[in-house]
Amino acid sequence: MEGMAQFANCSDLTVLLNRMHTDLEVYCEAVAELSHIGGARTLNVAYERSERARIAFEAARDRLNAHIAQHGCVALKSGLMASFAGEKEDS
Ligand SMILES: [Zn+2]
Repeated sequence: MEGMAQFANCSDLTVLLNRMHTDLEVYCEAVAELSHIGGARTLNVAYERSERARIAFEAARDRLNAHIAQHGCVALKSGLMASFAGEKEDS
């Protein structure tokens, strides 16, 4: 799939990580939007949207962490986090 990062051979981890990444992007966009908002009413709406995005991101992160704990993908974690930081590793 285009734009999907692939990590080792754990497809569940890949799905969970991409999900978390997507939720994080939504959250970041929602937060960035807050600084462009004018009226108080609009700000409230934007704030609530960012809060929902934050909750979704945290839920995705928790599912990822739970999977790593259960499945033992933890050995890959440093590599995953490096990928998260934007480093591309071609093997
Ligand atoms: Zn796994």
